[in-house]
Amino acid sequence: MVQKELFDPDIVEVQSHTTPGVTYKVNKREKTCTCMAFQKRGKWALCKHLNQVLGGNVVNYAVLSSGLVKSLRLRRVTDAQWFLKELWKDKKQRWRTCRRMVVNAFEDGLDVATQIVAMQEAAGAYQERVPETMEYLVDLICHRENWWQSESGQTYIHTGTLAERVKAQSTPAGLSAILKAGYGPQTTLNHYYGLKSSNVSMILDAIDASGVSVDDDLGALMTVCRKMPTRLVKSDENIECQLLYRAAGGPLSADPIEPYAKPVPDGFKVPDWVYDGMHCGGGKRDSRFAGTWRNMIRAIAAFQHYGRLDPADIWTQEIWDADV
Ligand SMILES: [Zn+2]
Repeated sequence: MVQKELFDPDIVEVQSHTTPGVTYKVNKREKTCTCMAFQKRGKWALCKHLNQVLGGNVVNYAVLSSGLVKSLRLRRVTDAQWFLKELWKDKKQRWRTCRRMVVNAFEDGLDVATQIVAMQEAAGAYQERVPETMEYLVDLICHRENWWQSESGQTYIHTGTLAERVKAQSTPAGLSAILKAGYGPQTTLNHYYGLKSSNVSMILDAIDASGVSVDDDLGALMTVCRKMPTRLVKSDENIECQLLYRAAGGPLSADPIEPYAKPVPDGFKVPDWVYDGMHCGGGKRDSRFAGTWRNMIRAIAAFQHYGRLDPADIWTQEIWDADV
């Protein structure tokens, strides 16, 4: 790959990886690039040219956020705390970090107690700008069973994966009618995936309008959801999916939360499994923990094969071919 230094010593010209003759200008000082990928995603992601020039030795918000999400998913509390600590330094983006923690509890927490605490703690940290509650939340999530190890979690992943494939054309009223008729979690989620657009309050309204019986757990969840700062829960597939799944009678646990202790480390290197190529670029790409339905099915297969979910375990062809 030819790199040509331009007049400004911080600007380097890099050839396109795919189109011969096309070049982009990478600014080492500003950490910007003129390629389409960078222009589209802006400062949230490192493009391959920036990564090439900077030697893969830098992190930005997207990398750190991806690291936090994967660490939580893999239940690696030490890693997760490090990523959180780095993210928290970016004061302007703290609301994103708080939002990310809420989303994670819905995506990966999978029990009502954790989801409620996640919303309360994130809202508190967001309003008071203190990191301690986020550190507590990281610990809490990491000490709860995740979807790849619990039976109810595995059932949820199977149901969601199948539901997303069908996508029945629907409207909020249709969704509400499906809930009312009691078609169950998978059909309800088929209709959810058929919606043109959605947001959390629309889903809450659809549940209300359906008149389905709401148990204490779901009721508490819905109440906290409604009280949340809009910015933290406005629209997210994980939150919406979980609310509907529960309203449709999906079996999920709601074990009470017990306290525990936590260690935090000093030095740290970003591991390859953070760079999924979807939430952030750079590093040696590893898409296994990106959180797509298909890769979550594969993670379950990997857990069943190895008896653990660890990035160090190589996924066999059988694991890559895993299906519902
Ligand atoms: Zn670029």
